[in-house]
Amino acid sequence: MEKIVNDNNCSWINDLPQRNKIQSIDKDINCDYLVVGAGYTGLSAARKLGQLHPDQKIILVDAQMAGEGASGRNSGYLVDTTLNDGFTSNKELENYKKKADIYELGIKVIRKFVKEYQVDCDWSESGKYFASSKKEDIRTLKNFSETLSKLDYEHMILDQKELTKKLGTSFYNTGLYTKGGILLHPGKLARAMIDALPSNVLLFENSFLNKWEKDNNTISCYFKNGYIIKTKKIIFATNAFLKSLGVKSNYNFPITLTASMTRSLTDQEFKSIGEPKQWGVLPVRPMGATIRMTKDRRILIRNTAEVHNPSKMSQTDLEKRSLKQKEGIKKRFPQLADDIIQSSWSGIVSRTRNSSQIFEKIDKNIFVAGCYNGSGIGVGTLFGEQIAIKASGENSNEISTIESKKKPTWLPPEPFLSTGVQLRLIYERIRARSEI
Ligand SMILES: Cc1cc2nc3c(=O)[nH]c(=O)nc-3n(C[C@H](O)[C@H](O)[C@H](O)COP(=O)(O)OP(=O)(O)OC[C@H]3O[C@@H](n4cnc5c(N)ncnc54)[C@H](O)[C@@H]3O)c2cc1C
Repeated sequence: MEKIVNDNNCSWINDLPQRNKIQSIDKDINCDYLVVGAGYTGLSAARKLGQLHPDQKIILVDAQMAGEGASGRNSGYLVDTTLNDGFTSNKELENYKKKADIYELGIKVIRKFVKEYQVDCDWSESGKYFASSKKEDIRTLKNFSETLSKLDYEHMILDQKELTKKLGTSFYNTGLYTKGGILLHPGKLARAMIDALPSNVLLFENSFLNKWEKDNNTISCYFKNGYIIKTKKIIFATNAFLKSLGVKSNYNFPITLTASMTRSLTDQEFKSIGEPKQWGVLPVRPMGATIRMTKDRRILIRNTAEVHNPSKMSQTDLEKRSLKQKEGIKKRFPQLADDIIQSSWSGIVSRTRNSSQIFEKIDKNIFVAGCYNGSGIGVGTLFGEQIAIKASGENSNEISTIESKKKPTWLPPEPFLSTGVQLRLIYERIRARSEI
């Protein structure tokens, strides 16, 4: 695989102060634990390992700057629930409960981290909305509401008038609000996790792992610049890039998402939309727009998901997608100026066929955690900590909960996989064309 190139446009990341003292791998090294990938998963795994093994050598590597992949550039919804169609049988309800239990643990672990390290990440317990411009989607929301009631999740269904008042746009005809969702600044959270790394964790950035091999009790990792790390144990936390390292290749695939953020609305613009409190909307139809009003009056929109080269997106490609986002904002807020988008960026997520996450020991001393679809803030942080515990030979109640969930199912090889995914995305895009 080529080098991974993150664009430099992400508003969340550009909000942060510049970091200095960036270190890359510059010699061969031996260690006890190597964590590959420094997003929420890898940062949490390394933090936990550092706490559990103060006298051992722990290394965390990233191909780019730590926390600047998907973890620093997502939409910032720490989710309590996600929407699926129909939950008719008890079995489905049982599966949904297992999924929601993991979200709950994810929220708990982030809440604890934020409290313990006094993190300022614009934490807002504003809840979240699932909304649609299509009246008929009320059926989906009523189904969902039944599931949430059975599981005791506080929520309510809202009509167009109520949504307009809350969101400042009359675009949505029907919606469901869940109280437990949290909105935050993903870049600030990722940065806090870098700052919280214990002193016995060595962080190497801009250090791309090319390939790895296991030989008896040692795992040798070869980096692009020629250096080698030999480790006793390894945790793969590269999420969308697991496949490119030959890890669980037939169980996950990368999807590229693109988002845009506006500048802060002026007082006059903000007044024109009714001065709403900050909010976050998720689509009822999977390929519809995720859209947020931040606390500093910026609008974030993400309305594309596609099969694209995961190592980079060109500026021209980004600009094309940005036009879709401009269209999405215009549909909802026609009174706002045409040129308010300040930046557009892309990020890569990992998907599995049945939406199950990966949390496994794949061989002696080799561990992997990843594939959270749209819930990696909480679940990635939880899985990172718990995979570190598992790699240390320990157990926990959280591990039992995680492992009681269904495992990801097998995926067909290329080119069938990409073709299948593309067809599915086209179908979903058509279904959600009014919702972008
Ligand atoms: C636009 C967008 C919106 C999203 N919205 C939300 C949301 O609202 N809520 C939510 O919960 N989730 C959301 N997600 C998903 C969420 O961001 C991810 O699930 C989460 O960041 C995954 O964390 P991670 O640490 O596992 O992976 P990542 O953050 O992707 O980290 C993996 C790291 O591995 C590194 N890496 C890869 N290959 C190599 C290699 N060969 N050598 C060394 N390092 C390597 C990468 O550079 C990267 O930094 C969104 C994602 C995107 C892109």
